[in-house]
Amino acid sequence: MDKEKDHLALTNSLNFIEQIVEDHNTNGRFEKRVHTRFPPEPNGYLHIGHAKSICLNFGLAQRFHGLTNLRFDDTNPETEEAEYVEAIEQDVKWLGFSWDERKFFASDYFEQMYAYASQLIRDGKAYVDDQTAEEISATRGTPTVPGKESPFRNRSVEENLALFEQMKQGKFQEGAKVLRAKIDMASPNMHMRDPVLYRIKKAAHHRTGNAWCIYPMYDFAHCISDSIERITHSICTLEFEVHRPLYDWILESLGVYQPQQIEFARLNLSYTVMSKRKLLQLVNEKLVSGWDDPRMPTISGLRRRGYTPESIRNFAHRIGVAKRDNLIDVALLEFSVREHLNQVCSRVMAVLNPIKVVITNYPEGKTEMLTTENNPEDPQAGHREIPFGREIWIEQDDFMENPPKGYFRLSPQGMVRLKSAYIIQCQEVVKDAQGQIQELKCLYFENSKSGADTSGLKVKGTIHWVSAAEAVDAEVRLYDRLFTVEEPDKQEDKDYKEFINPASLVVLPHCKIEPSLRQAKLGERFQFQRLGYFCVDKDSSPQQLVFNKTVGLKDSWAKEQKK
Ligand code: ATP
Ligand code: MG
Repeated sequence: MDKEKDHLALTNSLNFIEQIVEDHNTNGRFEKRVHTRFPPEPNGYLHIGHAKSICLNFGLAQRFHGLTNLRFDDTNPETEEAEYVEAIEQDVKWLGFSWDERKFFASDYFEQMYAYASQLIRDGKAYVDDQTAEEISATRGTPTVPGKESPFRNRSVEENLALFEQMKQGKFQEGAKVLRAKIDMASPNMHMRDPVLYRIKKAAHHRTGNAWCIYPMYDFAHCISDSIERITHSICTLEFEVHRPLYDWILESLGVYQPQQIEFARLNLSYTVMSKRKLLQLVNEKLVSGWDDPRMPTISGLRRRGYTPESIRNFAHRIGVAKRDNLIDVALLEFSVREHLNQVCSRVMAVLNPIKVVITNYPEGKTEMLTTENNPEDPQAGHREIPFGREIWIEQDDFMENPPKGYFRLSPQGMVRLKSAYIIQCQEVVKDAQGQIQELKCLYFENSKSGADTSGLKVKGTIHWVSAAEAVDAEVRLYDRLFTVEEPDKQEDKDYKEFINPASLVVLPHCKIEPSLRQAKLGERFQFQRLGYFCVDKDSSPQQLVFNKTVGLKDSWAKEQKK
């Protein structure tokens, strides 16, 4: 990480957020302190959009030698769970970032927030409203029509303090009363029209249990949490730009320390939904196998799929930060992981749709060890030995009975090179009663061994293979995009779930893998030659290895860029 940081500092011009921080450092606004926070609500698992925010917040602090807090924004007891807290911590750590001892919960500040709310009441800046949620929303007006003041707006400070205290004591039913800021019902900014600060919720909270039955609204809790933690730069997504006047109003009214809120464009990815509510729906309705289904855009899903933390950080760096909403091509994410896996993965041989080849002129019972390269991209990676014998598996589509012109793989009487082994020639196609191909009988050329070929034979194609006697059985799961359209949640009159790709998961239960992978560990990543990048899934058992396909070898994104 350190090397990467230095590299960043040397080679990159400042993005607009870094420029703001730099300006603050110059004009002394925060005494050259940089202190950011990543503030997830523990109501779901983190997704790749959160990864962008994590890289931004932690990255900013690293670049300016500052600090980053992890803060759980847990002000809504109904949707939040301890399971999510643990998953979030695991994901942030896995991405390579540390909050050290600075893990906080907004719920730790409930007492202080209550005191601040009471202070606003005493200053005539907040009041208890008896109107129902419907009445409040009906009297808010529209952006062009001012709202109507509540009939309860001019209650005395004493009455408000007493009612707010009783709200806290649980004297009222949910929805009977709320605390509202007293700002301006005619403000052109709807968020300034006496926004609700507290509501009654008789629900147990994952940390405070039943201690509270009133809970602060996000806008109230968030700025106060930032202020208490002496955050300098409170970075959030664009939709909060219109909340900034309220953020500032609350802190100014309280006369407390005030961070600078800065908004940036959230990450939108093509062929993906990114809202936690929708991801939760996919999980609950069993449209995916769980939060960590390898097709999910969650960090846990990407991890299970075989993504590396480096590839996600590189992706976040590549997309940068913008002030305007945009849609990033998911192929760029795939490009980032392919680029990294290409550097670090061993090349191995695996046959996904096997067909048997019997080499009739190879001695029965003989096994020969052949040498092959682990990773041509990595000079340190070395070599390994793979067994070769009379019976091998090759890929079904590496054989064609009636090949078109220019087909360089195996066909009747045709020749092909077996990777790191010999040239073979197909002599006979053996079929069953239904006409299905059972096996291919081939000859090999003894003097055509890879690296010591004296045969003089010229063949154009090279295919991968696995020795049948030593092959390890495996299940391989192939994935495609979870949705069939670029923007599944922006299709007129249609629910995003109508666009789920029925072919997004294909299970191949009878694959044959080279024996060096017998001891492969959970999460270990490989390049299956000619097929793509794969990793060992948690569903593997001592009896059966299970692999997930991370990404193919073909670089469609780079090609698009060259066009
Ligand atoms: P969702 O809309 O998926 O529920 P959220 O914004 O409500 O997301 P939070 O847990 O509140 O989820 O988000 C934590 C942090 O991550 C916030 O600072 C938020 O701005 C940021 N974040 C969430 N989604 C994205 C995204 N798609 N791109 C960049 N940052 C994001
Ligand atoms: Mg949120």
